[in-house]
Amino acid sequence: MKFTPETYRIPDKPMTSFIDSEEIWNYIHTTISTKEKVREIIVKSLSKKRLNLEEVAVLINADDPELIEEIKEGAKTLKKTIYGNRIVLFAPLYVGSKCANNCTYCGFRASNKEVVRKTLNDQELISEVEALEENGQKRLILVYGEHAHYSPEYIAHTVKVAYSVRKGNGEIRRININAAPMEIDGFKTIKEAGIGTFQVFQETYNREAYKTYHLSGKKADFDYRLTSLDRAQEAGLDDVGIGALFGLYDWRFEVLGLIRHTNHLEACYNVGPHTISFPRIKDASSLNLGDKYFVSDEDFTKLIAILRLAVPYTGMILTAREPEKLRNEIIQYGVSQIDGGTKLELGSYSKTEKEEQNLNNEQFKINDDRSLNDIIDELLDQEMIPSFCTSCYRRGRTGEHFMEFSVPGFIKRFCTPNAILTMAEYIEDYAPEQTAIKGWKAIEKNIETLEDDKIKKSVLEKIEKIKAGERDLYY
Ligand code: SAM
Ligand code: SF4
Repeated sequence: MKFTPETYRIPDKPMTSFIDSEEIWNYIHTTISTKEKVREIIVKSLSKKRLNLEEVAVLINADDPELIEEIKEGAKTLKKTIYGNRIVLFAPLYVGSKCANNCTYCGFRASNKEVVRKTLNDQELISEVEALEENGQKRLILVYGEHAHYSPEYIAHTVKVAYSVRKGNGEIRRININAAPMEIDGFKTIKEAGIGTFQVFQETYNREAYKTYHLSGKKADFDYRLTSLDRAQEAGLDDVGIGALFGLYDWRFEVLGLIRHTNHLEACYNVGPHTISFPRIKDASSLNLGDKYFVSDEDFTKLIAILRLAVPYTGMILTAREPEKLRNEIIQYGVSQIDGGTKLELGSYSKTEKEEQNLNNEQFKINDDRSLNDIIDELLDQEMIPSFCTSCYRRGRTGEHFMEFSVPGFIKRFCTPNAILTMAEYIEDYAPEQTAIKGWKAIEKNIETLEDDKIKKSVLEKIEKIKAGERDLYY
């Protein structure tokens, strides 16, 4: 049966939800995890095959420290073979904090009278984007509360404004969105504005738990949210991101929920989510949640490694909610994108003085406030190559055609060269001397890894062009 948004709207025929709590709990409670099974499953994943729910449950139930280590090692190897040593960088940009919902975990919830509400006007938005461009950012995610003010037309307008900003050699080449779910027409409107990925996090895949956190507003409707990316697909927006907010419910359930959601999108639309996000709850203005479902660093690391093995071809995003040390470690287990130089307070990128975070001015606390350049330095020290590549989306390689992962040799032909070229641009335009020295060394080393002499020659030529002032060269 094809799940369409219409299926979900027929009132006396409620959705045959693709999320079945009982089924998920059954997998967790009845799956037995033996050494042999775990190892077999890691081998399957390393051959780049998707895991089914039962196999994911086997990994979830593995609690022998030796096996957990093997799961992490497996994820590390898989990441290296599929993604190489690239990490894509982006920055979040909060556009508006008005919100009509009451999500108990969020500083922006309507009932929170402490938080200062703000919506950037066009000039403020331009100043923010200029400041981000001056740091070297090329990829943004625009973030909005859920409010009548933030209509699809308004969001499309802000996207167009942000794309139009040019500061020096700076420009924003890809804008992703994290905003409230929409109707099909709304998704069409923002697709036309040229967005990249549209993210909607289900927060928790457990219907009962969901009710206890989403007290009022449109977001209280579990099904409407769960089906939002189906509507995006119906609208032709095939680049979507899913996520769960870890700490709301049992993490094991959420991991299976994410995989089930991925399976659903793949089965119905021939394309899974482009990205999975796994935010962990952080402190926020006037927050009082309790920690019944607190996810420890150990479990968090394990679940990220499991996600990597479960869906080898899906991008994974780790944000500055997590502290530097943990981010540096977890990146290795399968993360493909991180944010850098992150500030959450509305209007704060264009402020010159560094301010302490004030939770009444933002959504939640971040724990990694390093500048973009500090993060680039660290990635280079870890022998990774930071990338600002936006090529696939601009060349229309999205949806069914997320070829970066599935076409053999694609990474060597496109991703590594594009990472090298965007890094060369960053060095020329924004890097301090020390970073530039390290960066050119990394570029040299990565060029060496390109086996095809034609590609090598072409990349070297393009680097000369970048040095001579040309920009935006990509494959
Ligand atoms: N308002 C839109 C919505 O709810 O879909 C946009 C998303 S909200 C601005 C971005 C995400 O932040 C939420 O989906 C949620 O997962 C996450 N979030 C909310 N409160 C958080 C907290 N206290 N700590 C960490 N992440 C949080
Ligand atoms: Fe509003 Fe989103 Fe925060 Fe919920 S998570 S209160 S919808 S901004």
